[in-house]
Amino acid sequence: MSKYWSQLTRTLDPYVPGEQPKIDGLIKLNTNENPYPPSPKVVEAIRGFDTDRLRLYPDPNSDALKQTLATYYQVANNQVFVGNGSDEVLGLAFMAFFKQDKPLLFPDISYSFYPVYCGLFEIDYQCLPLNDRFEIDVDDYATANGGIIFPNPNAPTGRALGLATIRRLLQQNTESVVVVDEAYIDFGGESAIALVDEFPNLLVVQTFSKSRSLAGSRVGFAIGSAELIDGLERVKNSFNSYPLDAYASVAAIAAVQDQAYFEQARDKIIASRQWLDQELSQLGFEVLPSAANFIFAKHPAHDAAALYKGLRERKILVRYFNKPRIDQHLRITIGTQHEVEALVTALKQIL
Ligand SMILES: *Cc1c(COP(=O)(O)O)cnc(C)c1O
Repeated sequence: MSKYWSQLTRTLDPYVPGEQPKIDGLIKLNTNENPYPPSPKVVEAIRGFDTDRLRLYPDPNSDALKQTLATYYQVANNQVFVGNGSDEVLGLAFMAFFKQDKPLLFPDISYSFYPVYCGLFEIDYQCLPLNDRFEIDVDDYATANGGIIFPNPNAPTGRALGLATIRRLLQQNTESVVVVDEAYIDFGGESAIALVDEFPNLLVVQTFSKSRSLAGSRVGFAIGSAELIDGLERVKNSFNSYPLDAYASVAAIAAVQDQAYFEQARDKIIASRQWLDQELSQLGFEVLPSAANFIFAKHPAHDAAALYKGLRERKILVRYFNKPRIDQHLRITIGTQHEVEALVTALKQIL
């Protein structure tokens, strides 16, 4: 605490990202990064970037990237918004849509940044519990609200809702904005982008950090009706006119244009996820079905915090959450096949 802090700053409870420790030989399965490098076309685009352009401000509207995304997802240019990572896009969406008289609704177990934004923007919220199978029941959300947000697939559970279920939620909820945070959609779920023309209150948010191996570059985007995108632009242009670096846009465009590489890396991750799911089940873990690039699992006979510690001693880092309902689970990012095999070997030693 400092006497110089504002009243608001004093009340904040900031988000704590997963660790990025600098330990030689560490197998890092704790922050859902992609284990494979970005596409060679991305590397080429960054190498070819004319650094003289760094003198100039970037395009404030990132039109070239918006055009690329609009073509890829078959929507109009004015249905695309881009930002400095999807965390920023989410933050702007909270500011633009969720400060209402009624509370924002989100699941009790989901992305832990949501309550942090509510604190920063003074948004009232209510958490709705997942069922015992850690699923979202969309009928719980058919109640008066100032907005709805959830990740699909959910984090940290990995469970995904199908498009028909999301449509049912949208049919029941037409008066407030629904944000579907699709950070992991490319690893197995069905994108709600297919529904944006049907529901003007739907905003779908995605990121280049996971499926496109660009977490270090900070590019996220949203797709929705022109009126929602316009609302986001108003807030963005009241906060930071140039959220995307000139070279970040160039890298992101090259990533979208290399579909073959994208599919190859994604398919390897899905294959390793299936392999790890089987191996963990054989070791006695209860594994939730995952549509993401991570697995959420618990062992009925071994304390999760102790497993986390044992793995860490063997230079393998996974994510442990000391939180109600999930303090006996581990969230394990799908690494390369070699990395997940090392994890299984280490778990066999510990168990
Ligand atoms: C990783 C993640 C994000 C943020 O991604 P960035 O684009 O890197 O900011 C947003 N939502 C969820 C659920 C995530 O897991």
